[in-house]
Amino acid sequence: SQKKNGLGIALVGLGGYAGGQLAPALQQTKNCYLAGIVTGTPAKEKIWSDKYNIPQKNIYNYETFDKIADNPDIDIVYVVLPVAMHKEYTIRAAKAGKHVICEKPMAVSSADCQEMIDACKNAGKMLSIGYRLHFEPYNMEMMRLGQQKVFGKIQKLDAKNGFVYGGDPNAWRLKKALAGGGGLMDMGVYCIQGVRYTTGEEPLTVKAREEKLRPELFKEVDETVYWEMKFPSGAIARCKSSYNANDNNLRADAENGWFELSEAYRYGGMAGATSKGKMDFPQINQQAAQMDDFANCIVQKKPTIVPGEMGLQDIKIVEAIYRSIASGKEENV
Ligand code: NDP
Repeated sequence: SQKKNGLGIALVGLGGYAGGQLAPALQQTKNCYLAGIVTGTPAKEKIWSDKYNIPQKNIYNYETFDKIADNPDIDIVYVVLPVAMHKEYTIRAAKAGKHVICEKPMAVSSADCQEMIDACKNAGKMLSIGYRLHFEPYNMEMMRLGQQKVFGKIQKLDAKNGFVYGGDPNAWRLKKALAGGGGLMDMGVYCIQGVRYTTGEEPLTVKAREEKLRPELFKEVDETVYWEMKFPSGAIARCKSSYNANDNNLRADAENGWFELSEAYRYGGMAGATSKGKMDFPQINQQAAQMDDFANCIVQKKPTIVPGEMGLQDIKIVEAIYRSIASGKEENV
C-alpha cells in the first residue's frame, strides 16, 4: 500500500459532511490522512475504498468498530454521526485507545458531554470538537478585534445562522431522539461560538423565544429561536438560529467602531469588514487546518484550542436557552 504521512484518521459515519468536506480536506492535510472508515452502509465500503485507496483491514462497521483497538494505522477516530450517537462512538473510540474528534453539536445533553470528556481523560486520549472556524482567518480576526478590544469595549453583538430547510422530512435532523434539538443545536451553536470567541467571555444569562412557521415539518424540533445573552462586561448579544431563514452573520458594535462577518460560518467565501474598511484574508480549507492542528497537538503533546470542554459549555448554554423558552424567563447559564 501507498506510503502515507502523519497520523491516521478513521471517519465514522459516511454522510454529507464526511463525504463532502472531511474526506476531500484529508487529501490536503499534512499531519494526518484518511486511513480508515466506519460505515453501516455496505455499498459505501467499495465506493470509499476505491476512491481513497483504503485497505480492507481499515474498514469497519458499527458492530466491528471496537476491533479498531488492534489497528495501529488508526490514531484518531472522527465521529461524524447524528448527534445522539456522538456519545457512544466517542466513548467506544476512547476505550479502543484512540484520540477523538467529535462533530458539533457535541451531544444531546451536557451530562453526555461530561461522560465523553471523562472517558477520553480516563483513557489518556485527547478529545476535540469539530469547531473549524477557530482555524479560519476571518473568524480569527473577529477574535483578535474583540478580545484585544481594538475598537474598545464591545457593547452589542449580533449573530444569526440559518437556512431554509428543504430536505427530507424524515431526516435525523428533524427527529428529537437523534438530533437532540433543531436549528438551535445545528445552526445556533455557531452563533454561541461566535459571540463567545469574539468577546472572549462566557454569558451569564439567556432569554429566549421560539417561532414556528412550518409546524408540520418541525414537529419534534425547534425551527427558529431568538435569544439574548448577557456577558459580564455588560455586552449584550442578540442571536437567531433557524431552519426557515437564510442568515449568516456575526457582528460586534464597540465603543469606537464595529466589525462584522457577513459570510461568517460557511466553508468558504468568507467576507467581512470593520468601520475602517474591508477585511482581506486568504480563503483556506478550514477542515484541513482543523485536523492538521489536532494531529500536531497530539504529536507535540499540547492541548487543543477546541477541546471537549468547549463543546460542553456550548451545550450548557443551549440547555439554558431551551429552559428559557419553556419558562418564558431569563435563565442563568
Ligand atoms: P448525514 O445524515 O449526511 O450523515 C450521517 C451519517 O451517519 C449517515 O450517512 C450514516 O453513515 C450514519 N448514520 C448512522 N446511523 C444513522 C442513523 N440512524 N440515521 C442517519 N444516519 C446514520 O449527516 P451530516 O454529515 O450532515 O452530519 C453528521 C454530523 O456532522 C452531525 O453531527 C452534524 O452536526 C455534523 N456536521 C458538521 C458540520 C460542520 O461544519 N462542522 C457540517 C455538517 C454536519 P453510514 O451510512 O456510513 O453509516
